[in-house]
Amino acid sequence: MNTKINLENLTIEKAHNSLKSGEYTVTELVNAYLNVIKEKNNEINAYREVYSDVLEQALVAEEMFKNGTATLMTGIPLALKDNMLVDGHIASASSLILENYKATYDAGIIKQLKNQGAVFLGRTNMDEFAMGSSTENSAFGNTKNPLDTSRVPGGSSGGSVAAVAMNGTLVSLGSDTGGSIRQPAAFCGLVGLKPSYGTVSRFGIISMGSSLDQVGPFGKTVRDAEILFNAINGYDENDGTSIKKENRLQSTPLKKKIGVPRSFLSGDGTDKEIMKNFEESCKKLEAAGYEIVDVSLPLIKYSLAVYYIISPAEVSSNLARYDGIRYGLHEDGKNLYEVYTKTRGKGFGKEVRRRILLGTYILSHGYYDAYYNTAIKVRDAIKDELTNIFLEVDAIITPTSPMMPFKFGEKSADPISMYLADLFSVPANIAGIPAVSIPSGKNEQGLPFGLHIMAPFLREDILFTIGKDFEKQAPHKI
Ligand code: GLN
Repeated sequence: MNTKINLENLTIEKAHNSLKSGEYTVTELVNAYLNVIKEKNNEINAYREVYSDVLEQALVAEEMFKNGTATLMTGIPLALKDNMLVDGHIASASSLILENYKATYDAGIIKQLKNQGAVFLGRTNMDEFAMGSSTENSAFGNTKNPLDTSRVPGGSSGGSVAAVAMNGTLVSLGSDTGGSIRQPAAFCGLVGLKPSYGTVSRFGIISMGSSLDQVGPFGKTVRDAEILFNAINGYDENDGTSIKKENRLQSTPLKKKIGVPRSFLSGDGTDKEIMKNFEESCKKLEAAGYEIVDVSLPLIKYSLAVYYIISPAEVSSNLARYDGIRYGLHEDGKNLYEVYTKTRGKGFGKEVRRRILLGTYILSHGYYDAYYNTAIKVRDAIKDELTNIFLEVDAIITPTSPMMPFKFGEKSADPISMYLADLFSVPANIAGIPAVSIPSGKNEQGLPFGLHIMAPFLREDILFTIGKDFEKQAPHKI
């Protein structure tokens, strides 16, 4: 039976019901996506590689439907950011230094998803080592925004978001160190979730900033993001920061109160049309029964400065392992020093080198205290400020990004203006709390807006509840 599957408004639950009732098979569903990829990927460049074993994976999932072990994720096609290890497949972090690096084991989340019978379609383009906000820092070409191909899809998980936005997969996974799931979700009109620090295993995920990194889902709806989050969430003994089940919180009733940090928003850096859309979103939440109150968060404006100290410091240490000897690219040299410099000079792109230099400087003798230790103190103060405000409100809302999806080249010459893209997303990484971006309409040119919601630590459930209520007031894609 070869029904034409409507991928445009397909969700995980719809697909699951159709697979279960036999309306179509996993192979047919997967083929529908592979056809779209064939047709669109040359132009969009969402995927770096489509895995060669996709149809074999589909057969495993079909078997699970036959023998009654299928779950919601069984047979669901998904795309992986190019920094997630799948045994036997290349994971390159979209860097020349790892161009041919083949993983020798499965990441924790991959193991979990394999057990549930999910189908990995392939790996997606990203800013090199997840540093960037436009995917222009990939060593393997730009990814285009499927909504307007003259514009960036956001970053660093630009390929993962574009894969869903072009209907080249049902859902996908990204990683978020300072906004790399939420900002691209906003740029491409999708839902993107950064979970609480410690909820999703990072074992087998190529590290950027280890005190900030989290893996999370992209989908067309809040419910899809929730299902995929539930599928990857869980304790992993291989990740020292993973939180045990007994230490996870129980949900408590909502206060139905949402805070808006007015003074944080009132700078002139945010596009006017974004602020206008944000005010409309506040009204929609009021219509859904929430009280919107102004809150004072005088410290969160320092989050971006703190982020650009802590993250390069961690980057410089994490990326020290790419020395031309243990992994990936190797360049010959007269002595060890030359091997290092030649390999790293050739293998790392400009932005990665900039961050390593910044991080090395920040951590060097004489500056460590002035920069790194000060940033850690401010980080703690920001965490406390947010913890306290959550005694009063269920969630904090802002726009996701201060800027609309921009054109290629518009910001790549000016790193500071690119860094500003993370203004509203970074506080959640600094504090380790969960945050989501939800589509909140489009402008006259058809470019999407995103609403950003942050909730207390381990309270993803609040994001899903508010997110679904908001979706009812502001229906998108489906
Ligand atoms: N855009 C930010 C940066 O360049 C965030 C990256 C991320 O979340 N991985 O660091």
